[in-house]
Amino acid sequence: MKNICVVGTGYVGLVTGTCLAQAGHRVVCVDSDAKKIKMLQSGKVPIYEPGLEKLIRKNVRQKRLHFCGSIPDGMHHQGKSADAVFIAVGTPPLPDGSADLTTVEHVAMEITQALKQYTVIVEKSTVPVETGGWVAKTIQAYNYKNIPFDVASNPEFLREGSAVEDFLHPDRIVLGVSSKKAEKMLREIYEPIQAPIVVTDIKSAEIIKHASNSFLAMKISYINAVANLCEKTGADVTQVAHGMGLDKRIGASFLNAGAGYGGFCFPKDLEAFYWISKKKGYDFKLLQAVKEINEGQKEAVLHKVEEELWNLNGKRIGFLGLSFKPNTDDLRFAPSLEIIGHLQSKGASIQAYDPVAMPKAGRILKNVRLVRTAYECARGADALILMTEWSEFKDLDFKKIKNRMRRPVLIDARNLYDPAAMRKLGFNYRSIGRP
Ligand code: NAD
Repeated sequence: MKNICVVGTGYVGLVTGTCLAQAGHRVVCVDSDAKKIKMLQSGKVPIYEPGLEKLIRKNVRQKRLHFCGSIPDGMHHQGKSADAVFIAVGTPPLPDGSADLTTVEHVAMEITQALKQYTVIVEKSTVPVETGGWVAKTIQAYNYKNIPFDVASNPEFLREGSAVEDFLHPDRIVLGVSSKKAEKMLREIYEPIQAPIVVTDIKSAEIIKHASNSFLAMKISYINAVANLCEKTGADVTQVAHGMGLDKRIGASFLNAGAGYGGFCFPKDLEAFYWISKKKGYDFKLLQAVKEINEGQKEAVLHKVEEELWNLNGKRIGFLGLSFKPNTDDLRFAPSLEIIGHLQSKGASIQAYDPVAMPKAGRILKNVRLVRTAYECARGADALILMTEWSEFKDLDFKKIKNRMRRPVLIDARNLYDPAAMRKLGFNYRSIGRP
């Protein structure tokens, strides 16, 4: 059993802390957001993630999981000093596309001031290559008492919506280390989790994360580009993707054509990977193309709406789903937000329903009527856009939906429905890359 401090209790930090507690360690999660810490201390969970709340309750009850608002307290909680500190704060994009590492730097400084014994400081946040070197230099600069430490990179590959499951059953665990001592510590921390362990140097681990996310984004843009050709030729992208995906070298996942990728990871990680490559002297043009195709998918959805409704001014458009993918309440960089903004700028009024993202949507979206069911979302609408493929949208009563709409226009931005069935019901049905 190790003593672990996790800094940042967002999607990654809270899941990491909870799952490491579940694995048997004693974990203290720290966040600078006092409201979040208060919520967590009173048994409430600030994010929606399947299975997380139950696991938090269990580990808090068994006294393996604690929450506090300061890094020194988290690192020396109830007289026990942390063996490892995981940095899991945000690394959002700056306007030029590079990652904003200010918080990582501040946290590294705070950790240094609290060091009392050998500690492994672990980058859990997604960071550009060479960040580990900068974190080590920062610590050295403020480590006046010369306390021994190691910096390590342990990128996280969990997906929002299945984060707990992904953390406890990962495809691999990547440990980027610069000493045997740090490797041993991290191996011991991850011992209860069954997965292949890949040990690398720190820079390679950092690149593994950016390269993996950018590759997945590329797969999505690739099939979206194929979908665009399908639309121009009358082919069906779902049939094409099926035929491609059975090839084991390609694989079937991430071959769903749609409105493009979004979320807090792919867009910013792809940008940051492009930016760091350029900074190091390599123009990674492929990544630019991936981004351009992705932007084009949102425009394609808008275009379909315009093709069906002509003028958008005064039209009412309903959104089924707002989160960037199902099973999460995360709206960061969700394609829905951009599409809504464009429609509003052309004079359309928007009504929307999402199974779990409504509280967050209420805080973010301006002038959007948020309703409580999919059926309410159809009421009076000139068009419905299926934006997120939540499972509850699979089995809607579309006769009821159609009866409530002013015009039966259904834009399926995730290819969730059967085109023939929808047309038979009388919808003007449009999807992505399918006739
Ligand atoms: P998040 O915004 O949900 O969480 C970050 C947390 O850090 C917030 O709770 C914030 O209050 C806290 N924080 C900020 N400054 C702090 C400080 N000085 N001290 C303590 N806490 C502080 O972000 P996230 O989605 O959890 O992502 C965190 C990192 O993990 C990012 O680098 C992201 O790219 C990476 N990542 C995210 C995912 C994902 O699916 N969300 C997956 C893999 C990796």
